[in-house]
Amino acid sequence: MAERIDGKQIAADVRADVARAVAQLPGQPTLAVVLVGEDPASQVYVRNKVKQTEEAGMRSLHHRLPAEASQADVESLITRLNEDDEVDGILLQLPLPKGLDEQAAIECIDPAKDVDGLTEASAGRLVLGKPGLRPCTPTGCVILAKRALGDDLSGKNVVVIGRSILVGKPAALLFLAENCTVTIAHSRTVDLVGICRAADILVAAVGRSEMVKAEWVKPGATVIDVGINRIDAPERGEGKTRLVGDVAFAEAAEVASHITSVPGGVGPMTIACLLRNTVIAACYRRGWELPKGL
Ligand code: NDP
Repeated sequence: MAERIDGKQIAADVRADVARAVAQLPGQPTLAVVLVGEDPASQVYVRNKVKQTEEAGMRSLHHRLPAEASQADVESLITRLNEDDEVDGILLQLPLPKGLDEQAAIECIDPAKDVDGLTEASAGRLVLGKPGLRPCTPTGCVILAKRALGDDLSGKNVVVIGRSILVGKPAALLFLAENCTVTIAHSRTVDLVGICRAADILVAAVGRSEMVKAEWVKPGATVIDVGINRIDAPERGEGKTRLVGDVAFAEAAEVASHITSVPGGVGPMTIACLLRNTVIAACYRRGWELPKGL
């Protein structure tokens, strides 16, 4: 039976490292969070981001724009935050309301303040292996794998299922930077099961409930489940739902050596890595030495 990689605990550890780092800095990093519209899930995410930023000893500025805001409104707010020397990190909460161009809005963010790591400049630095701000969820995946297997992942065969800009591609590049041998699988991959079975570390970032079955997992592999899928749960009562990952947890746990759960796995790592990026951005921008342990 696999050991569960406790993302909640590991995220708490990362947040504690961030708080310790913040306490050593000569000033207080500031994260500006931009929320456009009233999407209830986004409101919850933003509340958590603001709360956890403050708990780590940083300042957070919360900017809200109405759902009817135009592209120009969003971009001029971002430009203002770029120019505000007090602001170290800018987080644009996604998704934006329909009709707005997300990629164009993201591109307005000063790469030095791109704590989500989603601008073309940040992606370019990741591909080139230059220091920079890395996307949060994939960074969380690497931290979880290291907590399971130790800091040296070199030579591990990693299979990432999914090639999105948000998760799959950057996850593959981050594991490559750890000297892993990386395969990216996607919807056109032939013999997906066979490819997954070769993985020492299997990262599922697909968005399909419990797609990865026990026979996809090599005995003793480490399984990182990024998926967040809401499914009906009639056993909990009429109309009830529950969250599951992209991995059939119970059966995969019989085969793997380490595995993350959903919820309680990758999810909590995303905000923790955002806080970490805010400290890193503040240090790069202000010429502060990056405290050890981050
Ligand atoms: P996308 O929909 O952007 O990408 C999904 C990827 O999965 C695509 O590359 C697609 O391939 C691939 N795919 C789809 N179906 C199959 C299949 N049958 N076999 C193999 N590959 C397939 O999703 P995201 O990357 O944004 O997110 C993935 C999951 O992670 C979602 O469940 C999302 O909710 C979750 N997530 C969780 C986060 C967290 O904090 N834990 C943060 C972000 C996302 P192709 O490119 O060929 O279409």
